[in-house]
Amino acid sequence: MTQARVDLGMPALGESAPGPRRYLLDQGHPLSLSVLDLGLACCAVEFAAATMTQPELLAVDTDPPAPGRTEVLVVSGTVTDKMAPTVRGVYEAMPEPRYVVSFGSCANSGGPYWDSYCVTKGVDQILPVDVYVPGCPPRPEALVQGLRRLQRELQRGPS
Ligand code: SF4
Repeated sequence: MTQARVDLGMPALGESAPGPRRYLLDQGHPLSLSVLDLGLACCAVEFAAATMTQPELLAVDTDPPAPGRTEVLVVSGTVTDKMAPTVRGVYEAMPEPRYVVSFGSCANSGGPYWDSYCVTKGVDQILPVDVYVPGCPPRPEALVQGLRRLQRELQRGPS
């Protein structure tokens, strides 16, 4: 299966670096989610494992996503202060409505590197986060659980 490569402009990574990849959760569901994987460190391996083991995530979405599809950015791994503007740029390039899942301890709070001079103390310092998935690393199943939680809350609507 060919994977969709998403060009969201990541000059800090250079031309040859892989950009975020887009997946689809629950094809055919009234609220299927177009999921962008922004993998920054080891938690990204668990995201990759989820795409290979969780059938709901097997479909690779088109780029750009179909109109009306809900966009979700999954930040997996350690956000550094150097990378933070690029992470913010990826978010700003996504069409609205857009949501963010923080996947793993590093994205949630800096994780084991929370006291490093160069690590951002959680991606919520630079983006609005809708769901936090705990773990170092979280299991692949936890990614789908986090996405389903977001899906449920979106279906429920504002309280
Ligand atoms: S939370 Fe743990 S597994 Fe995930 S990126 Fe940080 S150190 Fe790696």
